[in-house]
Amino acid sequence: MGFLQGKRALITGIASQRSIASGIAEAMHREGAELAFTYQNEKLKSRVEKAAAECGSDIVLPLDVTDDAQIDACMEQLGKRWDGFDILVHAIAFAPREAISGQFLDGLTRENFAIAHDISAYSLAALAKAARPLMAGRNGSILTLTYLGAERALEGYNLMGVAKASLESTVRYLACNLGPEGTRVNAISAGPIKTLAAAGIAGFRKILGHVEENAPMRRTVTIEDVGNVATFLSSDLASGVTGEITYVDAGYNIIGMTGLHADAE
Ligand code: NAD
Repeated sequence: MGFLQGKRALITGIASQRSIASGIAEAMHREGAELAFTYQNEKLKSRVEKAAAECGSDIVLPLDVTDDAQIDACMEQLGKRWDGFDILVHAIAFAPREAISGQFLDGLTRENFAIAHDISAYSLAALAKAARPLMAGRNGSILTLTYLGAERALEGYNLMGVAKASLESTVRYLACNLGPEGTRVNAISAGPIKTLAAAGIAGFRKILGHVEENAPMRRTVTIEDVGNVATFLSSDLASGVTGEITYVDAGYNIIGMTGLHADAE
C-alpha cells in the first residue's frame, strides 16, 4: 500500500511530460493518491487530459492563475467532485523572456515585475486561499517549487529570482496562517531540469553542465527525484514539517569554491 493511500491531490503546472508536475503526479499516483489536474489554456488541455488518464483521473479543470474567476471556478468545480482534498501542488511560474536574460536592469519594467510576481508568487497565496475551505482540518499539504536564484544572484535568472524570493516568503507566511488548521506549506528548491519553462532561461544548457561538473553528486536531478521528495513532503510521513525549503539539487546549494583538486580527480 502506498503512503498516499486515501489522499486526494490537485496538481497544477503540467505543460509536458517533462514538467516537474508530471514527475510529481506520477510519484503521487504510484503511492496511491487520487489525483485531479489543471491546465493553463486550451493548447495544453489535451496533454493534461492524457497525463490525467495515465493516472486514472478524469478530473481536469481549466486554471489560468491570472484570472480570479478561474481560480474560484476551479475550486467550485473540484468541490462538486470531492468534498475536500489533502494536497495542493503549485508548479507554476512565468516571467517575460526579456526579464530572464541579460542583465537584471535590462529586462526590468514595472509591468515585467508585476507579471513575474503575479504568476509566480501571488498565485500560490491565491490558490491557498481559494482551496482553504476544501483543505482545512485534513492534515493537508501545500507544496510549491522554487529555485536557488531566490537567495543567490544567479546570472540571467534576474526577475524570476526576485519573484521566487517572494514565493519562499509566502510559503513561510502561509505556513503560519494555515498551521493551526492542520495544513502544512512547503517548497522544494529543485536543481535545474530541462523543461519548457527552463528553456526560456538564457544559457540554460551551460547551467546544466556547470551543475554536472560541480554539484557534490556530479549530476543534475530528474523530475523523478523531485517527484519522490514532493510525495514524501505531502504525506503524513512529513507531518512535522512546515514552512521549509527542501533542496533537491544533488547538493549544489551547499558548495563554495570548486575545482581546486580537479587534476587529482
Ligand atoms: P513547465 O514549463 O513544465 O511548467 C511551468 C507551468 O507553469 C506550465 O504548466 C504552465 O502552464 C504553468 N503556467 C505558467 N503561467 C501560468 C498561468 N498564468 N496560469 C496557470 N499556469 C501557468 O516547467 P517546470 O520547470 O516544470 O516548472 C514548474 C515549477 O518548477 C516552476 O515554478 C519553476 O519555476 C520551478 N522550477 C523549475 C526548475 C527547472 O530547472 N525546470 C528548477 C527549480 C524550480
